[in-house]
Amino acid sequence: MAPPSSAYETFKLFINGETVDAVSGKTFASLNPYTGQPWATIADGGPEDIDIAVRAARAAFEGEWGAKSGFERAAVMRNIADAISANAERLALLEVRDSGKLMREMIGQLKGLGTWYTYYAGLADKLEGKTVPALNPQTYFGYTLRQPVGVVGAITPWNSPLLLLTFKLAPLLAAGCTCVVKPSEHSPASTVAFAQILTEAGLPPGVLNVVTGWDRSTGEALAAHQGVDKVAFTGSTATGAKVAQAAVANINKVTLELGGKSPQIVFPDADLDAAANGVIAGVFAATGQTCMAGSRLIVHESVKDELVAKVVERANAIKQGDPTEAGTEMGPVANRPQYEKVLGFLAGAKAEGATIACGGEPNADLGGLFIRPTVVLADPEKTIVREEVFGPVLAAYTFTDEDEAVALANDTPYGLAGAVWTKDVHRAHRVAAAVRAGTIWINAYRVVTPNMPFGGFGLSGIGRENGTDAVDEYLENKSVLVELTGGSRDPFTMG
Ligand code: NAD
Repeated sequence: MAPPSSAYETFKLFINGETVDAVSGKTFASLNPYTGQPWATIADGGPEDIDIAVRAARAAFEGEWGAKSGFERAAVMRNIADAISANAERLALLEVRDSGKLMREMIGQLKGLGTWYTYYAGLADKLEGKTVPALNPQTYFGYTLRQPVGVVGAITPWNSPLLLLTFKLAPLLAAGCTCVVKPSEHSPASTVAFAQILTEAGLPPGVLNVVTGWDRSTGEALAAHQGVDKVAFTGSTATGAKVAQAAVANINKVTLELGGKSPQIVFPDADLDAAANGVIAGVFAATGQTCMAGSRLIVHESVKDELVAKVVERANAIKQGDPTEAGTEMGPVANRPQYEKVLGFLAGAKAEGATIACGGEPNADLGGLFIRPTVVLADPEKTIVREEVFGPVLAAYTFTDEDEAVALANDTPYGLAGAVWTKDVHRAHRVAAAVRAGTIWINAYRVVTPNMPFGGFGLSGIGRENGTDAVDEYLENKSVLVELTGGSRDPFTMG
């Protein structure tokens, strides 16, 4: 793999272990959100390329990869982990150029990504079934086999494409499945390079195929393809609903990791400096473009002024700028449509009478796609409190007692994540149990590890990624019953 480079690059599709042009021969340009300039040419794959990729994944599933034991798959996955670490800088730079994420964040993320593959490698050789005592154990012996579901269609969003692909790829490889991934049109490059690196590390051709494409018909074709056995999607709730409909029409399994509007609940006894730090991390890291963004601050009325003042002071001091520079704390919004969407939410908040405590506008000093870190004081029924902005915007409001705090936190159709800030251990666990969300941090925020399940309640999704149970999403359970006596039975009765 080539070293990090600032040169203009070209990325083709990656199918059956080879880089290939789209059947149509078409390409599109990927824009660097910091410079505003095209930095790469991307193959514009369509439904016909999806079809070729699905056939390649099927052949690998029925061929070399499907024939490997769990021990052999684990060995490949450990090599993959090493290869990701060795190429972390190159992959990080691709993500920075495509999405404007901070180089220092992406280097850390990619250096840690191999852990997902070693973690799931540890499960690949332990996919054991059960022996089951049959109703009549003298006559029948029962056992179960856990078998790979087959070809997985993975569809990923533009924020952290490789992390979010890995949430799917590591468990599906452990299970023995193969994959076609359709990365976002806004950040497609790193996924192509990643597939090449994994293939060089020993992943057989056809196990991981990448079809990039500008038009949404590419993702639609993958979600609806009859050669796919399971669809794993990360993205917005609106798209997730369409993807799920397409998958269910084929009676396919589907997991959905969707949007959120996650609460940070701060009680009066909390360490307010730590809470302010967690609020900043929750909503301004990655320019707020994370599914788990802690975008609602629900603070006790007695400490609201003090906490909001701390958050505003920190927010105003955030250094925005070139994402590749070590001192930068917040990069641009990742693409123009998202930038326009965030500004639309801010205009709407102002029109609805919300108070802008800081930010609320583009950063005119930098131009481009930079929006200042924003804190909005708003009532709980306002749009800015209710809808996912997916940008650097915090909506803050107050509660008076614990019951109200929980009710406000749960007053959302989403349920991806949340945090409770308090020194009272009893209250911390009570509130963690009461808030309807897939992940709750206590006195912390934005900590994700391979061995803790991640996913959402409500509109935030279906199923879980990460943790041991995630492998089950890529397995079928098969029952086998063996007749023990060698005798024949009445054909017209069961058992
Ligand atoms: P998006 O829904 O617009 O797109 C996601 C992917 O779906 C892209 O690859 C896109 O090309 C594809 N797509 C679009 N229309 C499609 C269709 N009709 N059929 C099939 N595929 C289609 O989301 P986005 O803007 O790329 O990402 C931001 C969203 O992702 C936010 O809502 C965020 O909360 C969510 N997200 C969730 C998680 C999580 O783990 N829960 C993680 C990251 C992002």
